[in-house]
Amino acid sequence: MPSSSASRTYRAVGVVLRTYKLGEADRIIVLLTREQGQVRAVAKGVRRTSSKFGSRLEPFMSVDLQLAHGRNLDVITQVETKGAYGYGIAADYASYTAATAIAETAERLTDIGETGGAQYALVVGAFSALSRNLHPSELILDSYLLRALATAGWAPSFTDCARCGAPGPHTAFSAPLGGAVCPACRPPGAASPSSATMDLLGALLTGDWAIADASDAGARREAAGLVAAYLQWHLERGVASLKYVERV
Ligand SMILES: [Zn+2]
Repeated sequence: MPSSSASRTYRAVGVVLRTYKLGEADRIIVLLTREQGQVRAVAKGVRRTSSKFGSRLEPFMSVDLQLAHGRNLDVITQVETKGAYGYGIAADYASYTAATAIAETAERLTDIGETGGAQYALVVGAFSALSRNLHPSELILDSYLLRALATAGWAPSFTDCARCGAPGPHTAFSAPLGGAVCPACRPPGAASPSSATMDLLGALLTGDWAIADASDAGARREAAGLVAAYLQWHLERGVASLKYVERV
């Protein structure tokens, strides 16, 4: 059995989803890492001073880490900033609430020990776009939510019928059935979104930003409601921080 210090430490690239207090001076940092999926690790002493170490581990920061295996939680021993997205996001309330909902969703979708490469890339892409105001924040959020759910195995359809595959476009949407539904499959209580809303949803899922950025407020509002319903259907308790997101 190797027992050198090298075997007790490991490196990871990750993004900070959430932090909370531990004891007098420490914090627990919830990270989504590229290599290890979700990791909860201790940052020791970061609340004693305004240490550089601590500020690198604020929510939404992308970091290069060295960790040491601990008995319960691993301990962060080194941290370098890769993308300081937290500053740009914290400067804008709409970006901040969108990022908070993204972080909560990512934490729910990635269980400890699962490899997180694709989910990590989606979160980093969304935080980077929010920090640079690349697109309206609510569109970055809804695009993230659709793509994260699709990556988790729940890809919605916004064209062909999600139940029988009949070619679209269709005029009804059912979250339980997986998106667009044809007249024959349409269950009672299905939504009837506008065609502009269906087009926007499809664009958000595929990352077609020319269409998404050109959408109007009505389609964005309707799309946001359907994305939230779809998310709620798959995540049992829903995502609490969604209700704080500013909508046009
Ligand atoms: Zn059908």
